[in-house]
Amino acid sequence: MRTILRCIVVVFYCAYFPLTQAAEWQHFTSTAMTTKLDLEFWFEDQKKAKELSLRVFGEFDRIEAVMTRYGDTSELSTINRLAGRQTLPVSSDLFKVLQSSQQVSALSEGAFDMTFASVGYLYDFRQRQVPTNLEMKQKKKAIDYRHVQLNGKTQTVHFTHPNVKIDLGGIAKGYAVDQGIQILKQAGVQFARLSAGGDMRLLGDKKGKPWIVGIKDPRATLKKNNNVVALPLSEVSISTSGDYERFFIDDNGERIHHIISPKTGRSVSGVQSVSVIGPDTMTTDGLSTAIFVLGVKKGLALVNRLEDIDVIIIDAHRQLHFSEGLMSPAHP
Ligand code: ADP
Ligand code: MG
Repeated sequence: MRTILRCIVVVFYCAYFPLTQAAEWQHFTSTAMTTKLDLEFWFEDQKKAKELSLRVFGEFDRIEAVMTRYGDTSELSTINRLAGRQTLPVSSDLFKVLQSSQQVSALSEGAFDMTFASVGYLYDFRQRQVPTNLEMKQKKKAIDYRHVQLNGKTQTVHFTHPNVKIDLGGIAKGYAVDQGIQILKQAGVQFARLSAGGDMRLLGDKKGKPWIVGIKDPRATLKKNNNVVALPLSEVSISTSGDYERFFIDDNGERIHHIISPKTGRSVSGVQSVSVIGPDTMTTDGLSTAIFVLGVKKGLALVNRLEDIDVIIIDAHRQLHFSEGLMSPAHP
């Protein structure tokens, strides 16, 4: 009798709760582009979610292979080797990122400049190595984004100065995040968070409530719980640039870090971190680096001119600065 009852219960259950699995938050991590990738999205099927995560992470690997400055095999390395001497065809991914870099350069009057690498490649933060004065003198003239000539019709690149080197560390991760979100969207995902280090894009909200995104204390000593701001956000990108990611303190007590002023060829001081909020990650990534170089006053002025873009800057005195869009209407 008991068994029959149990069977009836099972049949009843199956009839009313058909074999579709309930959706749930799926969480995956990986590493690419020398940074941690973090992906969370709402999806029914765990196996398919895993496959989807591998496609998203695979996209990072694909883009990294094209755009990395390390090794001789990337398309970027080939361009750095040859574009000073000849005009070269460029793949469509790379061309998009080069064009976007040039736009951010024009917008920031050269604060963002991928040719910073002409001097920037002489730094080695792990080895505590900086360019010598002689090297600086020889290579600094090669820094100018206008040396990079892009032809949209032929999709080609040419450098008008022989010593130019370019680096896309300030923007390529943002592009990869955008591409990853595109893959998720095409698979029908509606709610997702994808980050690569300091670059994050939010697809939709967290099912009826905003995502809460923290901005790190740039001088935090603790590994966890070190946020200075928590922002409720949805359907936007946010990118943070900081002087704490790759750095060393030199013998004079000066912080030598990876964001370089194209004017001086040296690390920028005056700001500890910049977080830019905007509609896509390639833009927020490029702008966060640009505004770091511009500093508080010029950086805020630029953002306040731009529609859809906001910024939070933490200056060298650990003071917070917000763009107009983030201030309450009551603010004077
Ligand atoms: P992260 O790489 O930590 O996400 P950013 O997005 O701020 O940080 O990018 C910093 C990187 O940008 C540097 O490691 C370097 O590759 C590149 N970079 C440094 N200075 C400049 C600059 N003035 N213009 C463009 N790119 C820069
Ligand atoms: Mg950046």
